[in-house]
Amino acid sequence: MCGIVGYIGKQKAAPILLDGIKSLEYRGYDSAGISVINNQGGVAEAQVEKAVGKVINLENKIKSRELLGGLGIIHTRWATHGGATEANAHPHSDCAGNIWLVHNGIIENYKELKNELISAGHQFKSETDTEVVAHLIEEQVKSLKSKVQSYALEDAVRLALKKVRGAYALAIIDKREPEKLVAVRNSSPLILGIGNDEYLVASDASAVVKHTRKVIYFNDGEMAILTPDNHRVVNLENQAVDSQPQELDWTVESAQKGGYPHFMLKEIFEQPEAVENCLRGRLVVQEGTAKLGGLESIKDKLREIKRIHISACGTAYLAGKVGEYMLEEYAGIPVEVDLASELRYRKPVFDNHDAVLVISQSGETADTLASVKEAKEKGILTLGIVNTVGSSIARETEAGIYQHIGPEIGVASTKAFTSQVAVLALLTLFLGRQRQMSLVTGERIARELQRLPELIRKVLQSEDLIKQIAVKYQTHNNFLYLGRKYNLPIAYEGALKLKEISYIHAEGYGAGEMKHGPIAMIDQNLPSVVIVPSDSVYEKTVSNIEEIRARRGPVIAIATEGNEDIKSLADDVIYIPKSLEMLTPILSAVPLQLFAYHVGVLRGLDVDKPRNLAKSVTVE
Ligand code: GLU
Repeated sequence: MCGIVGYIGKQKAAPILLDGIKSLEYRGYDSAGISVINNQGGVAEAQVEKAVGKVINLENKIKSRELLGGLGIIHTRWATHGGATEANAHPHSDCAGNIWLVHNGIIENYKELKNELISAGHQFKSETDTEVVAHLIEEQVKSLKSKVQSYALEDAVRLALKKVRGAYALAIIDKREPEKLVAVRNSSPLILGIGNDEYLVASDASAVVKHTRKVIYFNDGEMAILTPDNHRVVNLENQAVDSQPQELDWTVESAQKGGYPHFMLKEIFEQPEAVENCLRGRLVVQEGTAKLGGLESIKDKLREIKRIHISACGTAYLAGKVGEYMLEEYAGIPVEVDLASELRYRKPVFDNHDAVLVISQSGETADTLASVKEAKEKGILTLGIVNTVGSSIARETEAGIYQHIGPEIGVASTKAFTSQVAVLALLTLFLGRQRQMSLVTGERIARELQRLPELIRKVLQSEDLIKQIAVKYQTHNNFLYLGRKYNLPIAYEGALKLKEISYIHAEGYGAGEMKHGPIAMIDQNLPSVVIVPSDSVYEKTVSNIEEIRARRGPVIAIATEGNEDIKSLADDVIYIPKSLEMLTPILSAVPLQLFAYHVGVLRGLDVDKPRNLAKSVTVE
């Protein structure tokens, strides 16, 4: 959720930390703070600064003082325990102000721990769950000191964490050991970047890629002990872990705006390429199937699967809803789609031949990760569709398919959504061909998938028209989005996008369901966006448009190229190219993204970082 960067090396830490945390701003946060160990002149001192609001506020505060030293940590906080205040902003420290740490996640048993620590005489300066960890480490230092002559920070950290329950990524420094950075993770993202005589730890690769491509992804319960010229990884039992560095496939440019005014627009326009990348090397057109490396090892198991439970949140959940229709129609596998936040609280009936398929761009979505754990607990096969390589979900699931679309920085999901649907189409091909799907059908779908990047490019050419439509409707405060069958999830998705980006109330509804309620709201002030491609439910949807028109409701239609009739039914029409019915959602989602984007921009809003939202939702 929030961002962590830690630095140890020969350079001045502060500018590197600030630069790094800026590239994590997209993750969403409410305050920021930094701590640097200044070891000039032999007496180490922790220089600390915190600010509520944007990183720039912190930067302005630091300007007036020089932060020296090659060891430091920085944090952007997304409050879970205690308001967004300076006192609650990280880094937090022990009573003596020796130990400083930043944390991402939630300490579940913080209340008990805090009470114990208060009874032991500790004084707390914040309302956060995080602060207990600093005091716990202080306690362990005390007890180690009483037993052994010399102790190391990492030992105190290890022992302290044995008492902690919850999710954490932590970066910890101690001014008594001014040449050491300790970083540890459990269920919250953290990676290690290995440079030349320097190390960075960070919540994700965008803060590291400028400095190095060599990274180590931590597993849960792993801790790195870093000095300027050495690193060691151990588990919480103090056993050495053999973590091999991997080469990052991100470039600095891919984590920047690339000339677009906003990440969201950049990512909308990246969709042809993103879908191309996610299909690359995976379509076997002549055999009408898909080759999915990540599923190879469980190919035979997949043949036995009789039902799939898809579990995801937000936009990924809606991708799952499209997947449900695809998998049932073409692979003949019954599918249920759950909101991940519901799956483990209701009692889904699992069978040995079921699989749970989770979808998460970041691979860190807490609710989704929890449904993986729930399924594993029940002994059910777990599969993942994830973008972030090495993320928690990628590692927790038994097998899966990566999206391979590079970082998605804009908070509102765009290219991640369309590529999730494309991956679901690949999975449909794969599972379908293992079952009843004929070669001819498989071939047809594979060929159409190949054409998708080109078709998305065509949709993007309508941007000017979509912008004009956005200008026309920007002052409306309510919208209805309607669709049927494959495009019902797109009605939800279109409405969700508008809500997220423009804060306008929008409701997604089944076009056929409209007459059972929302029709009561229709008048000349409520525009309806109707997704009405020339598909198997075209005529039915047209009847719904007639119902709206009869009540003088304005209609914006998303229709198939060549459909001239629709012009007499709708006030505005945006065309998408003809494609297979199951793939139209990938095309119809695009104009709705652009519409939401332009309305948001016209309303003067920060479309890349909508208020109250975070990119990677790592709390439940
Ligand atoms: N739970 C911690 C807090 O409220 C950390 C939140 C975060 O991940 O930013 O301070």
